[in-house]
Amino acid sequence: MRILLTNDDGIHAPGLEVLERIAARLSDDIWICAPAEEQSGAGHSLSLNRPVRLRQHDGRRFSVSGTPTDSVTLALHKVLDTPPDLILSGVNRGANLGDDVTYSGTVSAALEGALAGIRSVALSQVYSREGMADAIPFEAAEFWGEQVLRPLLHTPFAERTLVNVNFPPLDAASVKGIRVVRQGFHDYARGSVVEGRDPRGFPYYWFGLHGIEHTPGHATDLEAIQDGYISVTPLHLDLTHDASLVALAERYQQ
Ligand code: MN
Repeated sequence: MRILLTNDDGIHAPGLEVLERIAARLSDDIWICAPAEEQSGAGHSLSLNRPVRLRQHDGRRFSVSGTPTDSVTLALHKVLDTPPDLILSGVNRGANLGDDVTYSGTVSAALEGALAGIRSVALSQVYSREGMADAIPFEAAEFWGEQVLRPLLHTPFAERTLVNVNFPPLDAASVKGIRVVRQGFHDYARGSVVEGRDPRGFPYYWFGLHGIEHTPGHATDLEAIQDGYISVTPLHLDLTHDASLVALAERYQQ
């Protein structure tokens, strides 16, 4: 089984090393093609207005001066002679839950793989403590990763779908298990906007996504993580809202 690894935290991210160790338990045909720099929040963006460089670090390790989607695209078109059987994206530093997933480069890299017809899984390690971003513990992902992925290797995936996995911010022994749940949603508007002044006195703004509340009880990915479970959620790109489609069509027939 050929596995392509990518992420949005960049080729040097600790979570990618965790993912390499997880993948090594599944196969010895592992390829890596990941952004050269961190691309968290890049979503599904594709570099259209500038050229992208592909750098080979060693035989099967490549970095791309672009987005996660650029990395998957170049891996499939230029790096690999035959397509991978599986694409794993992550392990992201931080949650990709609820309606945050469209911001996520981690999820979008897996989405790009799914659109190319390849079985794709996004993996994220939730962390809870502020200021821990430099050294978050990946213990839950490292310990449970193989167990979460094994059933996904042979389960049929519907076309153009991916699976989004989040690990709770717990040590491995405290994780209660695995829940297959739907994508949740936050109750309130987007995260924070911090305003500051640069050294020359000009204002800048910096966006944050952390600490957004949600109401438990929806049987969602957000609730599963809150309850101490690993969340497994199938996602697809079709954002059409079917009920509104009918209602809106009726508006135009009057
Ligand atoms: Mn990230």
